[in-house]
Amino acid sequence: MRRGLIAAGLSLFASTAGAAARYELIYSPDTERMQIRLCIDATAAVREFRLQRGGGAYIDDLRRGQGELQRLDETRWRAADWKAGECLSYVARLGDVAQSRDRDVGARVGETLLVAPQQWLLWDTAETEREAAVTMPAGYAFAPPWQELAPADGKAAQRYTIPATPSSWSALVAVGRFEETRLQVGAALARLTILGTATAEQRATLRGWVERALAATATAYGELPLPQVQIVLFAGNGRGRAVGFGQSLRGQGNAVHIQVDVNASAAALDADWTAVHEFSHWAHPYLGDDGAWLAEGLASYWQYVLRARSGLLTPQQAWAGLDAGFGRGRRTADDRLTLAELSRSMQDRRAYYAVYWSGAAFWLTADVELRRASGDRVGIDTALQRFHACCLQRKREWGAEEFVGKLDALIGSDVLRRNFREFAARRGFPPLDRLYAQLGLQRDGDTLRLVDDAPEAAIREAILRRR
Ligand SMILES: [Zn+2]
Repeated sequence: MRRGLIAAGLSLFASTAGAAARYELIYSPDTERMQIRLCIDATAAVREFRLQRGGGAYIDDLRRGQGELQRLDETRWRAADWKAGECLSYVARLGDVAQSRDRDVGARVGETLLVAPQQWLLWDTAETEREAAVTMPAGYAFAPPWQELAPADGKAAQRYTIPATPSSWSALVAVGRFEETRLQVGAALARLTILGTATAEQRATLRGWVERALAATATAYGELPLPQVQIVLFAGNGRGRAVGFGQSLRGQGNAVHIQVDVNASAAALDADWTAVHEFSHWAHPYLGDDGAWLAEGLASYWQYVLRARSGLLTPQQAWAGLDAGFGRGRRTADDRLTLAELSRSMQDRRAYYAVYWSGAAFWLTADVELRRASGDRVGIDTALQRFHACCLQRKREWGAEEFVGKLDALIGSDVLRRNFREFAARRGFPPLDRLYAQLGLQRDGDTLRLVDDAPEAAIREAILRRR
């Protein structure tokens, strides 16, 4: 029962003192090493501990109290006859992990280390509940995607639960001299870390932008999709753009990483879609390559819809942005492949525009159809809100059709699955002319005109209504 409450987000700081695997981490900045103890309460005939490939090179002095530990290969160890409460201890050379040339393994940002926990945190796959207590010296911070258990008081160890996700899902922990800022958004907590050199004023500008983007994301259905999230900004020179590359990571918790220009103004930051796009990904589960068009489509649709709802864009700007996106998708579409095929090979073909914007067309089409059928009582927001309530916290991949089928079941419709099948099997960009005419979206050369007496102008207005 208690686990059910935590999953529903009602008990954000609930204690999980009963966690089966407990880590104690103590960091030494001089050597960039983490002293680690892992204790597990339950007895077991055999336990197996793992790291991700390559990780074995970063740990030293691995010991099991008085007991024996057999090394099976580079990344696996076996302990027979595990007694209740036994512990392993070892040292992880985080500085060396950060020297990796592989950005998914580790990197250095100034003096801050970014390290994948799968490389140095031994994992007993038989356990599902893990808790960590992290002790950092004064002036140093540890920022993981994990779920914080209690507000930090600066002295005691900071405690976390570590979500169990597939080990292949990317995760990065920041370790160094920085401050983590806690942003409360309704019942949800967003932990913000700004890396790079920035003045107090620049930090305040970046923080304000993140807060507005979070508030915009919460207009989807009144709250953030997840009870706790991590946001890491990489503040640099921006190379002429206020906001650069953004990325959503799902390993051991949900995190968004975004590159930003440290000199960007609040207006220039607000004019960019990246933050709301990445935050929108929190509302759907991991959908794999087959579901990339659904995932990216939702984020591309919402990056305009949610910003308009919160007043960051006018309706005119939002529809023009969506229209420009559809235009890019249409110009780069491939008439030989179905959307499902294109989605699967999106990375190789670099078919991002066609996949993202075909997906956005799917969500717009479904949203309008649902609102039309329900007299505007039900839209995709409703379906995703119910998915959030029942299913989003489960840390696993969903099949694309399984996901839309669940959304339909939650609102008693067939709209999502029917459109899903049609869109997935279509070659070339989805036709939107009829939908445009109904909604009163009229292309006039380079500009998009909103027609007020169109048959479904009211639905168009309802989608972006301020909230
Ligand atoms: Zn995306």
